[in-house]
Order: sequence, then structure tokens, then C-alpha cells
Amino acid sequence: MSDDFLPVAQPDIGALEEQLVLEAVRSGWVSSIGHFVEEFERRLSELTGAAHVAAVSNGTVALHLALVARGIGPGDEVIVPDFTFVATAAAVVHAGATPVLVDVEPNTWCIDPELVEAAITPRTRAIIPVHLYGHPADMTAINEIAKRHRLFVLEDAAQAHGARWKGSLVGGLGDAASFSFYGNKLVTTGEGGAISTNDAELDQRIRFLRDHAMAPERRYFHPEVGFNYRLTNLQAALGCAQLRRFDETLLVKERLLACYQASLGPELLTLNPRHPDAVPVVWLVVGLLGERASTAELEDLGRRLRETHRIDTRPFFVPLHQLPPYSSATLHRRDASVATGLAERGLCLPSGSQLQPDDVARVARALEQELA
Ligand SMILES: *Cc1c(COP(=O)(O)O)cnc(C)c1O
Repeated sequence: MSDDFLPVAQPDIGALEEQLVLEAVRSGWVSSIGHFVEEFERRLSELTGAAHVAAVSNGTVALHLALVARGIGPGDEVIVPDFTFVATAAAVVHAGATPVLVDVEPNTWCIDPELVEAAITPRTRAIIPVHLYGHPADMTAINEIAKRHRLFVLEDAAQAHGARWKGSLVGGLGDAASFSFYGNKLVTTGEGGAISTNDAELDQRIRFLRDHAMAPERRYFHPEVGFNYRLTNLQAALGCAQLRRFDETLLVKERLLACYQASLGPELLTLNPRHPDAVPVVWLVVGLLGERASTAELEDLGRRLRETHRIDTRPFFVPLHQLPPYSSATLHRRDASVATGLAERGLCLPSGSQLQPDDVARVARALEQELA
């Protein structure tokens, strides 16, 4: 694809996806009952090591439902990293609770456990560590703090399907975890999400609330106000195909990162972080410039790469404290904001599994030219 436009993300949809979706369409089970939903949940249980998985409509409602099912709401504080996709904080607000922002670590880009400890108040009920850009958060330290303060740990694993911390899979490390299957994630169902947990009671409550809070023993009897947060069998069919070949996907993306590492010197960009206790997955290939740049300079670099070289890049997430709805939230950080420093140096590079070594070489040449 050497002269083509190189996108940052591109879903990998092949013959197996076509076959299973067609099978779902032909079966007539197009809504949320059907064997693909069951297979998808079972495969996710294997992918997380968690005993129970409930599929839901997207990653944002997965976070929302996990919080609500745990009884978190108005008057409660939930600790979230300052550096994440906005949905992590939005879900806390949807639940009626208050997000408290905590800065990230410079070596993992994930929530800083020491700062988490400092952010705990009598109102704190939960921590949502985010496994950012495929790199797991320090779950050992977070679980230890949570245990001492009796807090609910909800992993946001939307960007890290299959990653490991100290040998264990994300999704089974906290009290519960949420996943996203949006089109640019490592596994896609178009739109979709899931909640994994080892807590059977929590799983039951999630399933009950997901389906309009209908009493399991009496049809159309709804003792509470619930939600329709179900995933369809059609979407699950796509997800089953993705999971049946997920090992291969991870390998291809691992090779892609290795190819970038061989082509880009650290004087140009430092690529995806890796803590010694972590086995990250490659969701996106992300790089840090040697020096900080202004938002305008980063946007200008992106524009030149797109227009001159037909190469797509994306900036990093804007730290939550810089977004209007969260700018007055409490923020815990050290002297300087690590999240801000990362956002001022970060660039997401073309990361689709269809990319070839030629394409990576083209990106490397373009970066050399534009950063010279
Ligand atoms: C994508 C994402 C979400 C939200 O998932 P949707 O399926 O788009 O609702 C939540 N958290 C993080 C960290 C994400 O990257």
C-alpha cells in the first residue's frame, strides 16, 4: 500500500468476520439473544481470566454500569487518571459521582499509585486505573491501596485487551474491568463493550440492570429502573471472529512495533513505554518527541505529515484538567503535570495491522524530514 494514505487505525475485518456475521443475519437472531453473544462472553472470560463477563453496548456504558451496579452515585468520589480518553471521567459523572483527577507516572503513563493514596478522602469509593495505550497500570500497588481503604477497583481496559501485569491478564486484576470494542480498538464489534469480574453477585446485578432490571423470576416485573445496555448477536458475531484470531492480531502488532523500533532512532522519537513487570500490547504505536511542542506546533506537524506525505497521525489525549467539564475537578500531581508533558510531546503513528515494512519505512523517512 506504499503510496496510499496511511491511517492511524484501521479495523482488520476479514473472511471469518464476513462468514460469522452472515451466519448471524441468516439465523434471524439479530438482536441481543443468540449463541454469538454467549460465545463472545465465554471467549472474553478466557481473554481476561475472569470468571464472569457481561457484554454491553459500548465501553462507556460498561464503566457506567459497573459503577452503578456497585452502588456508586451522588456524594461519592471516584479516582481517575488525568491522562485518559474522556469516557473514563464521563462515566463517573453519568453515575452522579465526582471524578477526582490523579496524575500519571512518567514510565508507564498510567495512574501514579502514590498520588492515588494522597487523593483518598472519606468520600472515595472507587479507583479506575486505565491501562493506557496498551500498557497496564501498576495493579499491585493500586490493589494494595484499595484493600487498605476498602475501595472498588475498576480497570478501564479499553485499550489493552490481552496485556499482562506480573504475568496476569488485565481484566482479572481488579474487582471488575471494562472493555471497549469500538472500531479503532484491538478487538472490534463496531460498537461494543464488556464488563469482566470474578464477583458472581456483581455479575448478576450487572446482567439484571443491563436488561431493564427485569426480575429473573417474573417477566415484565421491574423492581428498579434499569437500562438497555445490551450488545446484539450481530455485533457479537463480528467479535467472535476477532477473538478467534486475536493471538495472531497481537503478534502482527508486536511485529509492527518492532519494525518501527528498528526504523526510528530514539533521537527522533521514543516509542511505547514498557515497565519491567508489564507485558503491554500494541494498541497504537505511540512516540514522544525529544522536546515539548505547543499544541499549534504539534498540529502543524500533523498537517504536514498528512498533506505532504499522506500519513495520518493523532495527538495524545488532552489531559482531563484542561477540558471545560473537568477543569474545576480536584487534581493531584507533583510539581509539574506529567500528563501535560506527555501531551506536549506525544504522537500516535499509523498502527493498523495491514501495514507493511515499506509503509513503516515511509513513515520513518517522513518523520526524519519533518523533524530535522
Ligand atoms: C475507547 C475508550 C472508552 C470508551 O469506549 P467506547 O466503546 O467508545 O464507549 C473508555 N475508556 C478508554 C480508555 C477508551 O480508550
